[in-house]
Amino acid sequence: MANTLVVDLEKRFLGGPTVRASLELPATPGRVAVLFGPSGAGKTTVLRCLAGLDRPERGHILFHGDPWCDTTTRLFLPPQQRRVGLLFQDYALFPHLTAEQNVQYGLGDLPAPERRERSRSLFALLHLEGLEGRRPRELSGGQQQRVALARALAIRPRLLLLDEPLSALDAPSREQLRGELRRLLRELGVPTVVVTHDRLEALALGDDLVAMEGGRVCQVGPVADVFNHPSELAVARMTGIETVLPGTVLKREAGLATVEVGPHHLTALEPSHEGSAVFVCLRAEDVTLGSPEATPTSARNRLACTVVSLSPEGALVRVALDAGFPLVARVTRYSTEELGLAEGRAVTATFKAPSVRLV
Ligand code: ADP
Ligand code: MG
Repeated sequence: MANTLVVDLEKRFLGGPTVRASLELPATPGRVAVLFGPSGAGKTTVLRCLAGLDRPERGHILFHGDPWCDTTTRLFLPPQQRRVGLLFQDYALFPHLTAEQNVQYGLGDLPAPERRERSRSLFALLHLEGLEGRRPRELSGGQQQRVALARALAIRPRLLLLDEPLSALDAPSREQLRGELRRLLRELGVPTVVVTHDRLEALALGDDLVAMEGGRVCQVGPVADVFNHPSELAVARMTGIETVLPGTVLKREAGLATVEVGPHHLTALEPSHEGSAVFVCLRAEDVTLGSPEATPTSARNRLACTVVSLSPEGALVRVALDAGFPLVARVTRYSTEELGLAEGRAVTATFKAPSVRLV
């Protein structure tokens, strides 16, 4: 129980959905858990219950073994007693206060020298020196975000809660701050829960991932485990797997499964039972395209396909293929040119057995 965050709760909204969440996460210094899922999944609801801003109808929350909320004993600690640092989507900085006043806002109980010292060290830590006297509208989006983070940290929180912390920023600053925020969260040494619907943000920031959809928790685990081994279709989709095909496991031999998908037999390196119906999930980045005349590679799976369409995505190109079933690949612009990819062109798609996931 020490160093964990245990949540088991049910929050009902009148005339609306019920959000249910049951999970246990490591909550050690600098460790970041991400609540991840599409809009409406219930992420913010869980975060608000953690903060003490919402009261679940049923359940309990334990932080490092301390009960924060327990509906059976009617225990409910208010936010200040939980000592959580909060940062919302829109930062909610007070527009009429300076950056420094914003940061010191929650420290009313402390003597003035201590308040000043805390905000001074946070301005240094977050590279905000010189901006103490500015009001929010005189700061860039990234600077406002860091001031809001400084304010959340000023109370020396036991747990930091961030709701879509980068969503108010334009795309270039979002990309830059993703990396910076990751470094900061590790450095700060406070266990953190971040809400996001953004896959890149989840991957960049998280150690642990809680995949949510439609008011329920689908899967909990280290980020890489959830992305590499989604336990159900909803999670596979959320983590960006574009090719999902129904198939049947024909046989298992030496750890390899042969799966019948449409007209083809594919090889996967996954535990499975002969005869079971599965979904074959394939990440577009794991599919390599080559010319049909090229010498075969060591990849276990090799399919003759026709290019259906090409769509540019930044430096990459998304290639929709017909292999007797729909298949998606994502390749560089360079390989697109080199292979002369165009609608109707015949190509060979190859992918290794470990990249074929069975759900
Ligand atoms: P997310 O943050 O994942 O987008 P939310 O936790 O905000 O999702 O919402 C989960 C569900 O609960 C949604 O269907 C939303 O409409 C509903 N909901 C959230 N807050 C309220 C509320 N105060 N009253 C009624 N329904 C709500
Ligand atoms: Mg939300």
